[in-house]
Amino acid sequence: MADQIQDSAIPERAIAKKNSTEPAPPSRVMVVHAHPDDQEFTVAGTLAKWARAGSEIISVIITSGDAGSNEKTNPTMTKEKLAPLREAEQRAANRVLGVHETIFLRYPDGELEPTLQLRRDLTRLIRKYKPDAVLSGDPTVRFYGNNYLNHPDHRAAANATLDAVFPSAGTRFIFTELLAEGLEPHNVKWVFIHGAEKPDVWIDISETIEIKIQALQQHATQIGGWDVAKEMRAWAEEEGKAHELKYAEAFRLMVLVEEKKDEQGAEAKG
Ligand SMILES: [Zn+2]
Repeated sequence: MADQIQDSAIPERAIAKKNSTEPAPPSRVMVVHAHPDDQEFTVAGTLAKWARAGSEIISVIITSGDAGSNEKTNPTMTKEKLAPLREAEQRAANRVLGVHETIFLRYPDGELEPTLQLRRDLTRLIRKYKPDAVLSGDPTVRFYGNNYLNHPDHRAAANATLDAVFPSAGTRFIFTELLAEGLEPHNVKWVFIHGAEKPDVWIDISETIEIKIQALQQHATQIGGWDVAKEMRAWAEEEGKAHELKYAEAFRLMVLVEEKKDEQGAEAKG
């Protein structure tokens, strides 16, 4: 019995050790978040790694973070003044990461809903830029531990993103007005979901953790008095430790289109 348990544990351990589940960098990536800074907290190490490997990255931010201020720390701030500041911070962070294009949809911060309008806007972008991979949060997670209620904007953004990926982006007769704009259906191959309760892919960010921290530090209006370097290293260490990685970001990976095999005799699905 003991032998059996040991045997069945071997393959999993071998995979974990070599991190052989880490996928190759996709050639074109779209990353979608509700607020400026969400991307830096969650997936920036992966984006920096992929950008340096040659991936083209399009960063979509649905709101401009204009609710991200509080009266006590900055009593003279207004929503109107904050939005352009936060957009500039996001652009600076994206330059640090090596992102190619930054798009703001300018929905109101703090009031985001997964509406058809938002789904259509995201579908338009997916059809226009044709990403192989989309990165987003997990819309099903309501609670993180015992001290963080997942922000409703995060859930709404993730919900609309996943619904735009499937079925809207790839289905010709959904949002037919997009056909009239010349935007043909596009099938996204992979969806990388961060913040999932049961991740199954760990990206080794040991070589890009410092870039992630530098990108996060561009969000000066948000991180006052907070040692983000220490915190980000601790988070990434926690994500990586079960897989013998110094620093990692964890994802649930959905494979929506199987890659066709080149070798003769290997049959593609379909
Ligand atoms: Zn946020």
